[in-house]
Amino acid sequence: MQIEDAPSPNFDDRKHPVTLLVLHYTGMESGDAALARMRDPEAKVSAHYMVWEDGRIVRLVAENDRAWHAGVSRWQGLEDLNSRSIGIEIVNGGHDYPAPGGGLPPYPDAQISAVIALAREIMAHHDIPPTGLVAHSDIAPARKIDPGEHFPWQRLAKAGLGLWPQPETGASCVWSGGDTSRLNTQLAAIGYDLADIPAALRAFQRRWMPAAITGFADADTLRRLAQIAGAYTSAAGGSSSPQA
Ligand SMILES: [Zn+2]
Repeated sequence: MQIEDAPSPNFDDRKHPVTLLVLHYTGMESGDAALARMRDPEAKVSAHYMVWEDGRIVRLVAENDRAWHAGVSRWQGLEDLNSRSIGIEIVNGGHDYPAPGGGLPPYPDAQISAVIALAREIMAHHDIPPTGLVAHSDIAPARKIDPGEHFPWQRLAKAGLGLWPQPETGASCVWSGGDTSRLNTQLAAIGYDLADIPAALRAFQRRWMPAAITGFADADTLRRLAQIAGAYTSAAGGSSSPQA
């Protein structure tokens, strides 16, 4: 894996060990613009890495240092996530710079292959658990929607990165009705902050059921939520998840 260096001045010292890998899209008109911004001392933002559409990887901040990509965020009850994470910015215009025909710009194969290779090395090196792979939208649900509902989490899981239990459908799917009593517990079991429940639900849907991002706890959402919370709980308990 070849990595170019393009150092950014936007970093300081870590206060905690690394336990998370945060994925972002750049959400700007071009990778050049995003790179320039992350190297601008006035902007006060950065990431450890940026991955271009063609799969080229740039390192801006050393992994030992604290890059500034997470902002105000919470996950699994923890704060100062910049101190606890590695951040990868993936070049993609996202919601603000849609594809020519409208819709979200696709993530090219070569780019996702590079993200997978890089993420694999980072997660192995820092011993980041599968539950530690997060979207920026997961850790800042009221503020952020990147890397977007078009990001291929399933492909990463197939490569051994993160969890992706297959949605349950048809006869195997047992559902007893609209029980929302465990909603908060289940969102929190995954890691979501409960300060804004609709925002947390939208972040959950964006990641785990991207076809319907409503912020409503409908039956499909509650069913998927129970499934993902179960997978996270068993992963945290050290037992192997059969569908990971
Ligand atoms: Zn982001």
